[in-house]
Amino acid sequence: MLNLVNLLDDAKCYETVRQLRWPEGVHCPKCGCEQVNKRGKDDTQPNRQRYCCQGCGKQFDDLTDTIFAGRR
Ligand SMILES: [Zn+2]
Repeated sequence: MLNLVNLLDDAKCYETVRQLRWPEGVHCPKCGCEQVNKRGKDDTQPNRQRYCCQGCGKQFDDLTDTIFAGRR
């Protein structure tokens, strides 16, 4: 059960998003490839992990293409 109060805490927020999006590990939102490199963290949000797909080269982060993208 997702407790919305947890979303107020940034670290838990991103952790929750990751677990909901990628329960079996991070994969590319564009091609679905699981060969993904971590590419550091967001400049303003240190808990927001960025990734780069080895398959298609797409760069994305924890919130790309989610309902949370662009909010706050
Ligand atoms: Zn890809």
